[in-house]
Amino acid sequence: MTTFLGMPAAPPPPASSGSHLRGTDSFPHAAARTLTDDQLRRNLAHATTTIRGKRARVVAEVPDWEELRLAGEALKADTMARLPELLEQLEAAVTARGGVVHWARDAEEANRIVVDLAGAALDRHPQAAREVVKVKSMATQETRLNDAFEAAGITAHETDLAELIVQLGHDEGSHILVPAIHRNRREIREIFLREMPDVDELFPEGLTDEPRVLAEAARLRLRRTFLRAKVAISGANFAVAETGTLSVVESEGNGRMCLTLPETLITVMGVEKLVPTWADLEVFLQLLPRSSTGERMNPYTSMWTGVTPGDGPQEFHLVLLDNGRSRVLADPRGRAALHCIRCSACLNVCPVYERTGGHAYGSVYPGPIGAVLSPQLTGVTDDASASLPFASSLCGACFDACPVRIDIPSILVHMRAQAVDAHARDVDHVAERAGMATVAWLFRDPRRLRLAQRLSRLAGLLARLQGHPRHLSWLPGPGRSWTRTRDLPVPRGSFRDWWEKEGRS
Ligand code: SF4
Repeated sequence: MTTFLGMPAAPPPPASSGSHLRGTDSFPHAAARTLTDDQLRRNLAHATTTIRGKRARVVAEVPDWEELRLAGEALKADTMARLPELLEQLEAAVTARGGVVHWARDAEEANRIVVDLAGAALDRHPQAAREVVKVKSMATQETRLNDAFEAAGITAHETDLAELIVQLGHDEGSHILVPAIHRNRREIREIFLREMPDVDELFPEGLTDEPRVLAEAARLRLRRTFLRAKVAISGANFAVAETGTLSVVESEGNGRMCLTLPETLITVMGVEKLVPTWADLEVFLQLLPRSSTGERMNPYTSMWTGVTPGDGPQEFHLVLLDNGRSRVLADPRGRAALHCIRCSACLNVCPVYERTGGHAYGSVYPGPIGAVLSPQLTGVTDDASASLPFASSLCGACFDACPVRIDIPSILVHMRAQAVDAHARDVDHVAERAGMATVAWLFRDPRRLRLAQRLSRLAGLLARLQGHPRHLSWLPGPGRSWTRTRDLPVPRGSFRDWWEKEGRS
């Protein structure tokens, strides 16, 4: 089924190349590096196992969980089918309540809009520091807004605890919900000691690595920042088209401070975060907290609609970011990736993510959802993006865990076909196709297959020459891709041989 989107005939452009959506290396190369970090794997295994257990317990408490998932899926499909119309409805509702809506085609345009707005707001306070506070926003991580602020002489302070740890560690996030999941508390203490010059003054008895003490250190530092901030930048979990209401859900209360204390609030949101009506929030506010943090309800749900004289920010701007999303929407088989509510449940159950961590994906969206969303946003133009749909065992755990039933394995297969077509002339792909054609030719005739099986005994000889009789650690040609990352067991004999010797008896 194709949907008329009322768009020009020219295909929508991909995300801009400066976006944080692709790494410099292909996934296998990047993963080979992270797999050697034992500490990282221990940290990830501990964190994902804990969150998985919590999620499973609270999901089991809800008798109509599957019905809720089906409702979430249907609502998202309906939203995507009439996205242009709903976005215009949202714009009208926000404007009617005193907000200003800006449309950004790509990351650069979004950054330019936000930096200009923040700069103008700060100019009204020449005595104040050139700084802004941010509540966790994946859209601004995607556009690399902090770099744009830095270039304009404005300091951006992340206020989400995990984001703060990543920022102070001069690091990149590696998880959608817990960007610092790859750090343990000993490492976090070292970062705080190194990067917080006033930590001795705040903790004269010494900073320990107790989670409570570390959280308190961050809180004391952030409180001072909140009280002097004039401008805040936020993301949005949901935007309600009928009322123009934006919503952020979070656990620490830092978002609530950002959304209420400063005079100017600028929200940057991907165009897919819409829900049609207020009543639809009921479904997503049940699905999200249980799937993400394993909580029955998230501690803070903030909602705001335009501006209210004398209460909260008196200037509100909403920046609607496309950056490749129209392109994803135009693909009827891939567009379900836009249904994602960023709960991270698929990351926590993924055996590939658990071993490699998020940095190997090279994108702000790691794990199974990143493997389908990032290459769709950028196009499978290079090794880095074309390798992502292959970063999966296709076990299907991500689909089972997804609260809005995104069929990630099917989209992965669809993306793999696109990647293969886009790189059909590459040497490796030509060799792979030749290999597959040879296998098909062998399988078409039992005599050829028998001959090939006899020849495979040569593998045992090759293995002995390589110094280990039971497996091959190196193969030439296309087989190299296999042995580069794992050993190939030497076949002990064919099924036919076994059947002739023992199977008949
Ligand atoms: S794809 Fe589904 S499980 Fe994964 S983050 Fe998005 S909503 Fe959550």
